[in-house]
Amino acid sequence: SQDKQVAFVTGGNRGIGYELVKQLALNGFKVILASRNPEMGHEAAQKLKESDLDVSFVMMDVDNQESIRQAAITVNERYGRLDVLINNAGVYLDENEKLLTMDPSILEKTMATNFFGAYYAIISFLPFMEKQGYGRIINVSSEYGAMGEMSVQGVGAYKLSKLALNGLTQLAAAEIKGDIKINAVCPGWVSTDMGGPSAPRTPKQAAESILWLATIGPEGPHGGFFRDGKRIDW
Ligand code: NDP
Repeated sequence: SQDKQVAFVTGGNRGIGYELVKQLALNGFKVILASRNPEMGHEAAQKLKESDLDVSFVMMDVDNQESIRQAAITVNERYGRLDVLINNAGVYLDENEKLLTMDPSILEKTMATNFFGAYYAIISFLPFMEKQGYGRIINVSSEYGAMGEMSVQGVGAYKLSKLALNGLTQLAAAEIKGDIKINAVCPGWVSTDMGGPSAPRTPKQAAESILWLATIGPEGPHGGFFRDGKRIDW
């Protein structure tokens, strides 16, 4: 119906994002599966529609501000509202590299997707939430981005991008007003293309551990970092 809440998931064509789209739809949301690749995005949305799920595809490359702007225009035209934004799209381009000796373009590319992608999505979609005085924003982060990880060698760019995403979560939380909640979440180690086949968690389990933040009430957490429903250290 027209009154269904609308949710938007970046990087929804595969991995944790795809499972988040599916579970949001199973929980009564009208879900926008965003993908930078139109073929993969269409195909993924089509597969879910065939199971009678309320899913549609919108193209969005989070590295590209113009693409984000266009996606916001499309959401406005098609739905006129947005209730839930999940910044899930991410890249892990490190190969056990050290920050000071790695190819700096890897750092730039990682920050562009994992940090600026979420930043631009938030500032582009927040106006929908401010208009209705309601919204839930979830940043899919990682425990790799915790401060305690910074003194451990390796995975320089990815860690830094998630640390920055966590900082963004806290700064944005302090500025956002009304019943709009923003939180960061670590999905655990998940068997996706990124996590690899030895990861102990399925994308379904990961999505379940994230989804509750999409439906928290006005007394729910704001500006927190969670794993499996429990607060963890920044
Ligand atoms: P995958 O590599 O399986 O999927 C990544 C998704 O992000 C794909 O849909 C990909 O699209 C999309 N993406 C990447 N860059 C862009 C871009 N510029 N614009 C739009 N979409 C983009 O990763 P996961 O599902 O495992 O990871 C999802 C999130 O969870 C990430 O933020 C990741 O950092 C986080 N995470 C994952 C963990 C794990 O163990 N798997 C652990 C901790 C955190 P395309 O298909 O076009 O490449």
